[in-house]
Amino acid sequence: MPASPLPDYRDPCGWNALLPPRAPRPPARGAMRAKYAVVGAGYTGLAAARRLAELEPGADIVVLEGMTVGEGSSARNSGFATRHDVKVGLSTSEVERSDRINRFQAEGFDALLAAMEAGGFSCDLQRTGRILAAATPGGEAKVRATLEGARLHGVASEALDRAGLKAAIGTDYYRSGVRTHEGYLLQPAALIRGLADTLPACVRLYEDTPVLAIEGSGPRVLRTPEATVRADHVILATNAAIKHFGYWRDRLVVIYTYAGITEAMDAADAAKFGEPAWGVLPAHRLGSTLRRVGVDRFMVRSLYAYEAALDSGEARLALTERFRRRYPALAHVRLEYVWGGTTALTMNGAPRWGRIAPGLYGSAGCNGAGVVKGTTLGKRLAETIVTGDPQEALQAAYGTASWIAPEPFRTIGFRVVSAIERRKAGAEM
Ligand SMILES: Cc1cc2nc3c(=O)[nH]c(=O)nc-3n(C[C@H](O)[C@H](O)[C@H](O)COP(=O)(O)OP(=O)(O)OC[C@H]3O[C@@H](n4cnc5c(N)ncnc54)[C@H](O)[C@@H]3O)c2cc1C
Repeated sequence: MPASPLPDYRDPCGWNALLPPRAPRPPARGAMRAKYAVVGAGYTGLAAARRLAELEPGADIVVLEGMTVGEGSSARNSGFATRHDVKVGLSTSEVERSDRINRFQAEGFDALLAAMEAGGFSCDLQRTGRILAAATPGGEAKVRATLEGARLHGVASEALDRAGLKAAIGTDYYRSGVRTHEGYLLQPAALIRGLADTLPACVRLYEDTPVLAIEGSGPRVLRTPEATVRADHVILATNAAIKHFGYWRDRLVVIYTYAGITEAMDAADAAKFGEPAWGVLPAHRLGSTLRRVGVDRFMVRSLYAYEAALDSGEARLALTERFRRRYPALAHVRLEYVWGGTTALTMNGAPRWGRIAPGLYGSAGCNGAGVVKGTTLGKRLAETIVTGDPQEALQAAYGTASWIAPEPFRTIGFRVVSAIERRKAGAEM
């Protein structure tokens, strides 16, 4: 078992640094008892805790977060969210399945909106649509397929040529793109802080409280550095860190990916980014994500590292190079914040979700899109525990994570596939 159950984050989260300081809740101390213990205060864990409190008002619910809220992956992401995903190149049966997933996606999105409204907090949520931009011929094929996918789903979209992209996002780096009108941008640290700070009164959140071990069965005992928590039902909402406890190691891979936000720019420089608010997703999965941040900053996300963090200097250099390649006129602008975050990938893109053993549940495998998906899966996990409903429709729609070969084959496989994919990604990176 690795010494720490938590991801190896070497730099603070830039989104969190942009917000005013927040006082974290104190760590758990002493011997504690709860009906429900949720491990992890990301989107999945907080949605589960909130739903448990709705279904059983007044129940004793404890959330144990190993870091502080705003420093986990739920804050370290790019802040793209959607109520309705547009998939590409779909057969009729795939369109039908994708529409079923979208009904769950909408449920998660609406749960986030409801929490924001009830809690009276905001996270700079803006309906910007999203642009898929292509810098290579392979990327252009994906753009065409996305246009077709949008047509099949009845999602409003428009094709963009190089000049159209230049007008929208201020660079002529890309050959073509598609803008789908569905899609939102948000400030992820503001969202996760807001969710954590407006939990129902029966939910006790403890931060800086890593769960180091889980012992026994019915009730289970969670061991942290300064506390033991006995709980009848335990939810592991730790995403890929669930592997620390020995679960689902044959389904999940941890990927570190990196983001940077520029320093605040003057009005003349900020005007070089085209429209006031936009987000660009890459046309290859190893490509770079771009977005504007407020009126005067810009974010770039790129790079992938398998199961281990990159050196901070290396990440900064690579992100700076990707930014300057797209905006050479802004070569004097520096990235003020650069940070890494983890995401849990599965072989077939499906999550691993549900009961692990009596009284023990988990949800993992966000595959890089867990702001909304994690919310749905956490909420539905709480419903399963309280009502006993196995959630067959949800399981049928998402599917379940497939088996991944053990070491050393998995590392070798990852290296081979990523070398091939990097070559294919080329200028999309
Ligand atoms: C750079 C980057 C960009 C991304 N961009 C997007 C995007 O634009 N849109 C999107 O939807 N998704 C995006 N993602 C993915 C998204 O961040 C994740 O899908 C999401 O955070 C998953 O939420 P979660 O609650 O399941 O897991 P997490 O957010 O990882 O939360 C799990 C929590 O569990 C805690 N934990 C782990 N182990 C323990 C333990 N033993 N004891 C106590 N606590 C523990 C962790 O500290 C963490 O806070 C991105 C990810 C990264 C890294």
